[in-house]
Amino acid sequence: TTKTIRRVYQTPVDFTKVNKNLLPTVVLIGRPNVGKSALFNRLIRRREALVYNTPNDHVTRDIREGIAKLGDLRFKVLDSAGLETAASSGSILDRTSGMTASVLARCQFAVFLIDVRAGLHPLDLEVGRWLRKHAPGINLVVAMNKSESLLDGSGSLMAAAAETYRLGFGDPIAISAETGLGMQDLYGSLKPKLEDYMLQVLNNEEGTEETNFSEDGSSCELEESKLQLQLAIVGRPNVGKSTLLNTLLQEERVLVGPEAGLTRDSIRAQFEFQGRTIYLVDTAGWLQRTKMEKGPASLSIVQTRKSLMRAHVIALVLDAEEIANSRRSLKHDEVVIARQAVEEGRGLVVVVNKMDLLRGKQLYDKVMEAVPQEIQTIMPQVTGIPIVFISALEGRGHAAVMHQVIDTYEKWCSRLSTARLNRWLRKVMSRHSWKDQAAQPKVKYFTQVKARPPTFVAFVSGKKELSETDIRFLKRSLKEDFDLGGIPIRIMPRTIE
Ligand code: GDP
Ligand code: GDP
Repeated sequence: TTKTIRRVYQTPVDFTKVNKNLLPTVVLIGRPNVGKSALFNRLIRRREALVYNTPNDHVTRDIREGIAKLGDLRFKVLDSAGLETAASSGSILDRTSGMTASVLARCQFAVFLIDVRAGLHPLDLEVGRWLRKHAPGINLVVAMNKSESLLDGSGSLMAAAAETYRLGFGDPIAISAETGLGMQDLYGSLKPKLEDYMLQVLNNEEGTEETNFSEDGSSCELEESKLQLQLAIVGRPNVGKSTLLNTLLQEERVLVGPEAGLTRDSIRAQFEFQGRTIYLVDTAGWLQRTKMEKGPASLSIVQTRKSLMRAHVIALVLDAEEIANSRRSLKHDEVVIARQAVEEGRGLVVVVNKMDLLRGKQLYDKVMEAVPQEIQTIMPQVTGIPIVFISALEGRGHAAVMHQVIDTYEKWCSRLSTARLNRWLRKVMSRHSWKDQAAQPKVKYFTQVKARPPTFVAFVSGKKELSETDIRFLKRSLKEDFDLGGIPIRIMPRTIE
């Protein structure tokens, strides 16, 4: 039989190499004069823009399209200036909605601009309502434009953010299309979205264009919930990865997806667990090797690192018998991989396999105790990494592994609203006692800027910056209060006047 190994794209995606037609499309949307054209011009710089007219209802609307360059990101950008004409002529959106809806149907993402100097305008709310109705699934970033004007130390940026939040499209970012301020933040909020999207498209082989760029708009949006869990099972040779996988596959019996039959030949094996599709990342490497070929009992750090980059959750499989016989639970290469998983912001589940080989309670207890302790020592910054003790051979514990994997993934994807976080912040700051008043950082505002993994920005005012200890304290509290144990959380401090 011939084995086909499909090319699998992984993060980081090199957008500069992607066929222009496959790039994601981002539409700039907003009421007149918020700065859509200014942002459009900044994004395409001096590159050529394609301008086309859509004569409709006595109004000629120009839609400009170009290839945006934002750091290493590339995407198609549409300036929906069309809304402007209609809006300024009185009846916003009604007359344009047909045209704009068809434009939106080609877009997977939108940047919803508001003019921060003007505050939230009734027309902004109207655009928001319209978007909700006509493009409910569009993946959207709210940008407060012209915010260079608020960086005068008045602190009004925060007030503006709180107000903008009322649009109900999540946390806004502050930009200035004119001066270029905040482009880093725009990049930061678009990058994970565009990258996830791009991976789905690139890894979807043929049919990509049809499924992702349909004209009716129905499948244009790509909600995060539709992004499937990518799991990497990693570990040294002979720890029982194949046995675990076989048990999982036998149990569930279902293999879905384009490939017929068991997809062991392809890197992208996938299976269903309790109604959820799980993609396996990079299983081919170790599945194809026979016992003879397994070679030295070490884990390829380079190869495994590659799998890490592609996966959302890593299941690191250890051998209980080895642990029972050694001073350390984790060998050097296993430590490296566990740390890398966490540093790369992936969810980690530790699987201790071959528990059936432990003879006697003493050994059993030793392993059950040693592994959690050592995991904690190796990665003090992430408390509560799930550890599952199983016997793949006897078919015990594999379901628990999957439950932990799914649970980890869901936490990894979780989003906490700004309102909730700020209620929490007030409580948590009063819970902690600092040495003295001066030592207490003034965290004014706390917001989640992205998920996968959960990433937060803490706005701090005053002289006292957030120390490492403060950040650890906030992380620990977030984990405890929002049940995010075992998830690599990130907190970025930002100083405001
Ligand atoms: P559009 O109608 O949404 O396309 O808005 P434009 O891009 O035409 O911008 C409307 C006005 O706002 C113009 O006078 C721009 O120069 C100005 N503008 C755009 N971006 C900024 C900004 O970041 N800061 C300031 N101060 N003015 C801006
Ligand atoms: P891989 O190299 O990580 O894929 O490991 P394999 O799944 O090929 O397993 C290596 C050896 O360990 C095989 O002989 C398996 O039968 C055995 N093995 C795997 N899981 C268990 C287990 O839970 N208990 C015992 N006793 N043996 C196991």
